[in-house]
Amino acid sequence: MTSPTAHEADARPSSNFLRQIVERDLADGTYAQRHFAGTPGDAAHHAAGPLDVAKIRTRFPPEPNGYLHIGHAKSITLNFGLAAEYGGVCHLRFDDTNPEKEEQEYVEAILDAVRWLGFDWQSQVNGGDGGTTSHLYHASHYFDFMYRAAEALIEAGHAYVDEQTPEQMRAHRGDFSHAGTDSPFRSRTCAENLARFRAMRGGELPDGAAVLRAKLDMASPNINLRDPALYRIKHAEHHNTGNTWCIYPMYAFAHPIEDALEGITHSICTLEFEDQRPWYDWLLDTLCTLGLLAQPRPHQYEFARLNVTYVITSKRKLRQLVDERIVDGWDDPRMPTLVGLRRRGYTPEAVRLLCERAGTSKAGGWTDYASLDIALRDDLEGKAPRAMAVINPVKLKLTNWAELFGSADFTEPCHAPAHPQRPELGARAFSLGKQAWIERDDFAEVPAKGFFRLFPGNRVRLKYGMVIECTGCEKDADGNISAVLATVVPDTKSGTPGADAVKVKGTITWVGVHDALPAELRLFDRLFTEAQPDAGGKDFLASLNPNSKKVTAGFVEPSLANAQPDDKFQFERHGYFVADRIDHTAGKPVFNRIAGLKDSK
Ligand code: ATP
Ligand code: MG
Repeated sequence: MTSPTAHEADARPSSNFLRQIVERDLADGTYAQRHFAGTPGDAAHHAAGPLDVAKIRTRFPPEPNGYLHIGHAKSITLNFGLAAEYGGVCHLRFDDTNPEKEEQEYVEAILDAVRWLGFDWQSQVNGGDGGTTSHLYHASHYFDFMYRAAEALIEAGHAYVDEQTPEQMRAHRGDFSHAGTDSPFRSRTCAENLARFRAMRGGELPDGAAVLRAKLDMASPNINLRDPALYRIKHAEHHNTGNTWCIYPMYAFAHPIEDALEGITHSICTLEFEDQRPWYDWLLDTLCTLGLLAQPRPHQYEFARLNVTYVITSKRKLRQLVDERIVDGWDDPRMPTLVGLRRRGYTPEAVRLLCERAGTSKAGGWTDYASLDIALRDDLEGKAPRAMAVINPVKLKLTNWAELFGSADFTEPCHAPAHPQRPELGARAFSLGKQAWIERDDFAEVPAKGFFRLFPGNRVRLKYGMVIECTGCEKDADGNISAVLATVVPDTKSGTPGADAVKVKGTITWVGVHDALPAELRLFDRLFTEAQPDAGGKDFLASLNPNSKKVTAGFVEPSLANAQPDDKFQFERHGYFVADRIDHTAGKPVFNRIAGLKDSK
């Protein structure tokens, strides 16, 4: 019996604590029978369609206030992945409860990024429940319900309107070692609270004058339970609800309700929300008791966020890189945004593989950036056509060419497989003439020990071409090497009977001066020189890598004339490259290096 290859083993999802929870709930039929207690016309009645099926529902709830990054990819693959694995549904929900921050640009970019990663909120491919349901939601659609829930909490004595100043509220909250103290407004009657809340809603109070708070326990060791704020006043227009509201729900109040209204079963979030879970549970159980929601309600589960070395994922810091023009935009190929990774040439398969391999657990940790390159190679090794390119060119002159072939203009046709293991992809054609472009560092006037490439007196093979013998070089007025000189060793063409007659230790890549295409080659490296650029409050700008982007005027073989934007190749000896999806054209080819052939760090 053969053991599975690393690749096959990776394709099989390994178990993790979330899969175990889902399997337990499916086995127990926890969510087999569900219906809502809301009144007809509620968001609850049409938010998620009929729910009387034993399906799991997860959600990815981005706030449309920035571009998605590699950390979000973890959350997307986890939520959509779990739903797909267990025949469930994953909702894409815009968490647009904050009126001031959302922008349509981000909404479009988020939709695009989720689609690019290979996931879909349309039901045909996402649980297949009926064919036409779109599982795209907006938290702002639930504002009416949230408001009624708030009034219900007030009426039941669970919430009060606090009119302390923000400073007083902060001072009364206490801290880890000191219990908080009750607000003087805490003992208001239900009627008074209701009247003041309605005054908040009616626009009678300015921003910051009052907040609605839950009445829990100002002495709780869990600070999240010290009367958390539910609603604040914000006289601001909302992109979806316009000027209907001048009070907006706080995230901690809105999020559990959004989950419940959509019939989410497993609300998966990152570990920093662990201390919020008692509140999440209290709020939903209380709203069930009050008859606004019904059991079984959603449950929150936390996992450790994905951290990748040499990468920052704070939206604020990423925005700073863009605003201060340290990078060339959100889709700069050095950015860890999904648009950046995509432009760099990382494939959705590679990003998903990285997320799966990083695992899902409660224990944090760091995933090495190299894992992304490994995932990319695993994905592209079998797929990407090969090609030759010269990144840092110097001219090679074959000085006996005319003599050997009877004409300086003679060209020798050469062939190479598009992919060494996939003959069905066919062959590439190019030719060798009297001059070729080779890599500058494939020549040394004085070779170091172990250097087997071109130096005076040494022989190498031009890959797919002939064996040549180096005779020297030419220099310009400044003493820089301007051309490498060599002679062709007769009857040594690859694939001919004489090819093996001459043994060489080195083979170099090249392109013909007469048929190569000039191309801009963009070589990217890590944006930071430190593995954890912003750990412990460090100034991440202090470890910017000054060499994170190099652009060279190189050459590529003529078979790349038909390369389309986003096409990926393995440039022999150099690594994986992609035709830039924005700048590449047939007239002006531009290729980005995605990753080298092996990790060099
Ligand atoms: P913000 O501070 O603006 O809320 P955010 O990164 O949490 O930033 P959201 O749009 O709220 O952005 O995130 C959407 C989802 O992605 C959340 O459920 C969040 O937990 C998850 N997420 C964000 N970063 C990571 C990460 N590094 N690893 C795993 N999940 C993440
Ligand atoms: Mg968030």
